Amino acid sequence: MSVAAVVVAAGQGERFGGPKQFALLNHDTVAAHSVHAARSVAQRVVLVVPMNYDGNGEGADVVVVGGTTRAQSVRAGLAHCEDADVVVVHDAARPMASATLFGAVVLAVTQGADGAVPGLAISDTVKRVASDDDATFITETVARDQLVTVQTPQAFRRDILERAHANAGDATDDAALVEALGGRVVVVPGERTNVKITEPGDLALLTSSVHS
Ligand code: C5P
Repeated sequence: MSVAAVVVAAGQGERFGGPKQFALLNHDTVAAHSVHAARSVAQRVVLVVPMNYDGNGEGADVVVVGGTTRAQSVRAGLAHCEDADVVVVHDAARPMASATLFGAVVLAVTQGADGAVPGLAISDTVKRVASDDDATFITETVARDQLVTVQTPQAFRRDILERAHANAGDATDDAALVEALGGRVVVVPGERTNVKITEPGDLALLTSSVHS
Protein backbone atom coordinates (compact mmCIF):
# COMPACT_ATOMS: atom_id res chain seq x y z
CA MET A 1 0.00 0.00 0.00
CA SER A 2 1.33 3.44 -0.86
CA VAL A 3 1.57 6.01 1.93
CA ALA A 4 1.79 9.80 1.73
CA ALA A 5 2.40 12.12 4.68
CA VAL A 6 1.08 15.63 5.24
CA VAL A 7 3.18 17.53 7.78
CA VAL A 8 1.31 20.67 8.78
CA ALA A 9 3.62 23.57 9.62
CA ALA A 10 1.54 26.59 8.64
CA GLY A 11 0.63 27.84 12.12
CA GLN A 12 1.72 31.22 13.43
CA GLY A 13 2.75 29.90 16.87
CA GLU A 14 0.93 32.64 18.75
CA ARG A 15 1.43 31.09 22.22
CA PHE A 16 5.08 30.37 21.37
CA GLY A 17 5.68 33.91 20.11
CA GLY A 18 6.53 32.93 16.51
CA PRO A 19 6.50 29.93 14.16
CA LYS A 20 7.77 27.31 16.63
CA GLN A 21 7.97 24.67 13.90
CA PHE A 22 10.99 26.40 12.34
CA ALA A 23 12.89 26.93 15.58
CA LEU A 24 16.14 24.98 15.84
CA LEU A 25 16.16 21.77 17.87
CA ASN A 26 19.78 20.71 18.02
CA HIS A 27 21.03 20.92 14.39
CA ASP A 28 17.72 20.79 12.54
CA THR A 29 14.46 22.67 12.62
CA VAL A 30 11.54 21.22 14.54
CA ALA A 31 9.75 20.71 11.20
CA ALA A 32 12.75 18.89 9.70
CA HIS A 33 12.67 16.36 12.56
CA SER A 34 8.95 15.81 11.88
CA VAL A 35 9.49 15.38 8.13
CA HIS A 36 12.31 12.91 8.82
CA ALA A 37 10.08 10.78 11.06
CA ALA A 38 7.23 10.86 8.51
CA ARG A 39 9.66 9.69 5.83
CA SER A 40 10.00 6.38 7.71
CA VAL A 41 6.56 5.31 6.42
CA ALA A 42 5.76 7.65 3.52
CA GLN A 43 7.00 7.53 -0.06
CA ARG A 44 5.86 11.14 -0.48
CA VAL A 45 6.03 13.83 2.20
CA VAL A 46 4.07 17.06 1.71
CA LEU A 47 5.05 19.97 3.97
CA VAL A 48 2.45 22.71 4.50
CA VAL A 49 3.98 26.09 5.31
CA PRO A 50 2.89 29.67 6.04
CA MET A 51 2.60 32.19 3.21
CA ASN A 52 5.84 33.94 4.23
CA TYR A 53 7.95 30.73 4.44
CA ASP A 54 11.45 31.16 3.05
CA GLY A 55 13.11 27.89 4.13
CA ASN A 56 14.54 25.02 2.08
CA GLY A 57 11.64 22.55 2.39
CA GLU A 58 12.87 20.78 5.54
CA GLY A 59 13.54 17.62 3.52
CA ALA A 60 9.99 17.25 2.15
CA ASP A 61 9.18 16.27 -1.46
CA VAL A 62 6.48 18.92 -1.95
CA VAL A 63 5.99 22.26 -0.19
CA VAL A 64 2.59 23.99 -0.30
CA VAL A 65 1.12 27.02 1.42
CA GLY A 66 -1.50 26.37 4.11
CA GLY A 67 -4.56 28.21 5.35
CA THR A 68 -5.75 30.16 8.36
CA THR A 69 -6.93 27.04 10.23
CA ARG A 70 -5.20 23.70 10.76
CA ALA A 71 -7.98 21.92 8.85
CA GLN A 72 -7.45 24.22 5.85
CA SER A 73 -3.75 23.48 5.97
CA VAL A 74 -4.41 19.72 5.99
CA ARG A 75 -6.67 20.14 2.94
CA ALA A 76 -3.92 22.04 1.13
CA GLY A 77 -1.55 19.14 1.73
CA LEU A 78 -4.10 16.44 1.01
CA ALA A 79 -4.58 17.88 -2.47
CA HIS A 80 -0.98 16.81 -3.21
CA CYS A 81 -1.19 13.23 -1.97
CA GLU A 82 -2.07 11.96 -5.45
CA ASP A 83 -3.15 8.32 -5.42
CA ALA A 84 -1.73 7.21 -2.06
CA ASP A 85 -3.80 4.50 -0.34
CA VAL A 86 -3.03 5.82 3.14
CA VAL A 87 -2.40 9.40 4.28
CA VAL A 88 -0.70 10.11 7.58
CA VAL A 89 -1.18 13.63 8.97
CA HIS A 90 1.36 14.96 11.43
CA ASP A 91 1.79 18.23 13.34
CA ALA A 92 5.23 19.65 12.56
CA ALA A 93 5.23 20.87 16.16
CA ARG A 94 5.63 17.25 17.40
CA PRO A 95 9.26 16.54 16.45
CA MET A 96 9.70 13.62 18.87
CA ALA A 97 7.17 11.20 17.34
CA SER A 98 9.06 7.99 16.61
CA ALA A 99 9.22 5.94 13.43
CA THR A 100 7.66 3.14 15.48
CA LEU A 101 4.62 5.32 16.18
CA PHE A 102 4.25 6.23 12.50
CA GLY A 103 4.47 2.53 11.70
CA ALA A 104 1.82 1.63 14.25
CA VAL A 105 -0.86 4.03 12.94
CA VAL A 106 -0.19 3.08 9.31
CA LEU A 107 -0.32 -0.63 10.16
CA ALA A 108 -3.72 -0.26 11.83
CA VAL A 109 -5.11 1.31 8.65
CA THR A 110 -3.57 -1.29 6.37
CA GLN A 111 -5.25 -3.89 8.61
CA GLY A 112 -8.68 -2.42 7.94
CA ALA A 113 -9.37 0.61 10.16
CA ASP A 114 -10.62 3.82 8.54
CA GLY A 115 -8.21 5.75 10.72
CA ALA A 116 -5.75 5.29 13.58
CA VAL A 117 -4.52 7.75 16.19
CA PRO A 118 -2.06 7.54 19.09
CA GLY A 119 -3.82 7.89 22.45
CA LEU A 120 -2.69 8.20 26.04
CA ALA A 121 -4.68 7.27 29.13
CA ILE A 122 -5.25 10.17 31.52
CA SER A 123 -3.56 9.86 34.89
CA ASP A 124 -4.70 13.18 36.35
CA THR A 125 -8.20 13.70 37.74
CA VAL A 126 -10.38 15.53 35.22
CA LYS A 127 -12.81 18.31 36.19
CA ARG A 128 -15.39 20.24 34.20
CA VAL A 129 -15.18 23.94 35.05
CA ALA A 130 -17.04 27.18 34.49
CA SER A 131 -16.08 30.77 35.13
CA ASP A 132 -17.88 33.75 36.57
CA ASP A 133 -16.64 37.28 37.25
CA ASP A 134 -14.70 36.16 40.35
CA ALA A 135 -13.13 32.81 39.56
CA THR A 136 -12.98 29.56 37.64
CA PHE A 137 -14.75 26.83 39.61
CA ILE A 138 -15.50 23.10 39.32
CA THR A 139 -18.92 21.96 38.17
CA GLU A 140 -18.24 18.22 37.82
CA THR A 141 -15.61 15.51 38.18
CA VAL A 142 -15.43 13.58 34.91
CA ALA A 143 -14.87 9.80 34.85
CA ARG A 144 -11.54 9.39 33.08
CA ASP A 145 -11.57 5.65 32.34
CA GLN A 146 -13.16 6.17 28.92
CA LEU A 147 -11.03 9.17 28.01
CA VAL A 148 -7.72 9.41 26.17
CA THR A 149 -5.73 12.36 24.95
CA VAL A 150 -4.74 11.97 21.31
CA GLN A 151 -1.67 12.95 19.37
CA THR A 152 -0.43 12.94 15.82
CA PRO A 153 0.67 11.16 13.60
CA GLN A 154 -2.86 10.15 12.57
CA ALA A 155 -3.29 7.76 9.62
CA PHE A 156 -6.37 7.36 7.42
CA ARG A 157 -7.53 5.71 4.25
CA ARG A 158 -7.07 8.54 1.76
CA ASP A 159 -10.57 8.22 0.26
CA ILE A 160 -12.17 8.52 3.71
CA LEU A 161 -9.99 11.46 4.76
CA GLU A 162 -10.90 13.25 1.52
CA ARG A 163 -14.61 12.67 2.19
CA ALA A 164 -14.17 13.87 5.76
CA HIS A 165 -12.67 17.13 4.51
CA ALA A 166 -15.01 17.51 1.53
CA ASN A 167 -17.43 19.89 3.24
CA ALA A 168 -14.60 22.12 4.50
CA GLY A 169 -15.27 21.33 8.16
CA ASP A 170 -13.15 22.55 11.04
CA ALA A 171 -11.80 20.54 13.97
CA THR A 172 -8.64 20.41 16.05
CA ASP A 173 -7.70 17.06 14.53
CA ASP A 174 -8.54 14.97 11.47
CA ALA A 175 -9.96 12.07 13.45
CA ALA A 176 -12.84 14.33 14.54
CA LEU A 177 -13.87 14.86 10.91
CA VAL A 178 -13.64 11.12 10.15
CA GLU A 179 -15.65 10.32 13.30
CA ALA A 180 -18.33 12.73 12.10
CA LEU A 181 -18.68 10.60 8.96
CA GLY A 182 -19.18 7.51 11.12
CA GLY A 183 -15.70 6.18 10.35
CA ARG A 184 -14.02 3.67 12.65
CA VAL A 185 -10.89 5.27 14.11
CA VAL A 186 -8.80 2.97 16.29
CA VAL A 187 -6.45 4.08 19.06
CA VAL A 188 -2.90 2.77 19.29
CA PRO A 189 -0.63 3.45 22.29
CA GLY A 190 0.75 6.99 22.13
CA GLU A 191 4.15 8.13 23.35
CA ARG A 192 4.59 10.32 26.45
CA THR A 193 7.68 11.81 24.80
CA ASN A 194 5.65 12.89 21.74
CA VAL A 195 4.90 16.34 23.09
CA LYS A 196 3.58 19.23 21.01
CA ILE A 197 5.72 22.31 21.29
CA THR A 198 3.38 25.07 22.43
CA GLU A 199 5.18 27.35 24.90
CA PRO A 200 8.80 28.57 24.54
CA GLY A 201 9.89 26.42 27.51
CA ASP A 202 8.76 23.24 25.71
CA LEU A 203 11.57 23.58 23.19
CA ALA A 204 14.23 23.98 25.87
CA LEU A 205 12.99 20.80 27.57
CA LEU A 206 13.33 18.82 24.34
CA THR A 207 16.74 20.09 23.28
CA SER A 208 18.52 17.79 25.70
CA SER A 209 16.58 14.65 24.74
CA VAL A 210 16.04 14.93 20.97
CA HIS A 211 16.92 12.07 18.63
CA SER A 212 19.04 13.19 15.70
O1 C5P B 1 -1.85 25.51 16.83
P1 C5P B 1 -1.51 24.09 17.05
O2 C5P B 1 -0.32 23.91 17.95
O3 C5P B 1 -2.65 23.22 17.46
O4 C5P B 1 -1.05 23.55 15.62
C1 C5P B 1 -0.80 22.20 15.37
C2 C5P B 1 -0.04 22.07 14.05
O5 C5P B 1 -0.85 22.57 12.99
C3 C5P B 1 1.26 22.87 14.04
O6 C5P B 1 2.30 22.07 13.48
C4 C5P B 1 0.92 24.08 13.20
O7 C5P B 1 2.02 24.60 12.46
C5 C5P B 1 -0.13 23.52 12.24
N1 C5P B 1 -1.06 24.54 11.73
C6 C5P B 1 -1.16 24.75 10.35
N2 C5P B 1 -1.99 25.73 9.87
C7 C5P B 1 -2.70 26.51 10.70
C8 C5P B 1 -2.64 26.30 12.09
C9 C5P B 1 -1.81 25.30 12.59
O8 C5P B 1 -0.49 24.05 9.59
N3 C5P B 1 -3.47 27.47 10.18
